Amino acid sequence: MDIPLKVYILPVLEDNYIYIVSDTATSECVVIDPGVAEPVILFLSRHNLKLKEIWITHHHSDHIGGLAELKEKYGCRVLGPAKQEEVIPQIDQQVTDMDLLSFNDHPFKVFELPGHTLDHVSYWLYKDKYLFCGDTLFSLGCGFIFEGDYKQMWNSLCKIRALPEDTLIYCGHEYTQKNAKFALSIDPENENLIQYSKEVDEKREKGEPTLPALLKTEMFTNPFLRADLPFWEKELKMPEAPAAEIFKNLRDKKNKFKA
Ligand SMILES: [Zn+2]
Repeated sequence: MDIPLKVYILPVLEDNYIYIVSDTATSECVVIDPGVAEPVILFLSRHNLKLKEIWITHHHSDHIGGLAELKEKYGCRVLGPAKQEEVIPQIDQQVTDMDLLSFNDHPFKVFELPGHTLDHVSYWLYKDKYLFCGDTLFSLGCGFIFEGDYKQMWNSLCKIRALPEDTLIYCGHEYTQKNAKFALSIDPENENLIQYSKEVDEKREKGEPTLPALLKTEMFTNPFLRADLPFWEKELKMPEAPAAEIFKNLRDKKNKFKA
């Protein structure tokens, strides 16, 4: 555990990220949410990495599209959400909330985070301080609610918010710049947000990923992690409204938002 894991970021499809987490001591690695196979195969061979496990956060095709081919080629072990035998038959180990597991000497905990989908899970390498949260939390945003309800999604975001603030958040998509436009439209005087948004623009200009995001930064800037601030009750004219209602209002606004 003294040697930290290295995380490689592989941009694929339109705006997805596949994460490759490598144990530098053994060159064994985990691939998270392989939406496609080919770029992963090339990457592993170029970096001499041995694929040991694949971790899946949810059943959407842009997160599992390359799974069958990778499993077939490398015979790796696949971890993923429970009750998905039909959609993701490649899963060897079904994971559920609070499972304590480890990759080599690196312990991690599983959280169920329903909302975007009902089966959504995340993987928290708590000693390395990495969270792989798929499409639940994005930097300055959160996932679209396809299957769950708003209250579930809000609770899932609160679970993430409760982690140590130096946690690095690895999200499933590069949406940060678009999300910043919406966040600034509803919270234009937030100095932390203004500053972070400039940093995001600079990174994107250079073609760099904006991820991982630091949880502490998100806590000061991401409107969806801040739905329980008294500020919104006034701003949205929803006095005494429960946080999940405020969250719903913000999420609906985002769905209608055009930059
Ligand atoms: Zn998704």
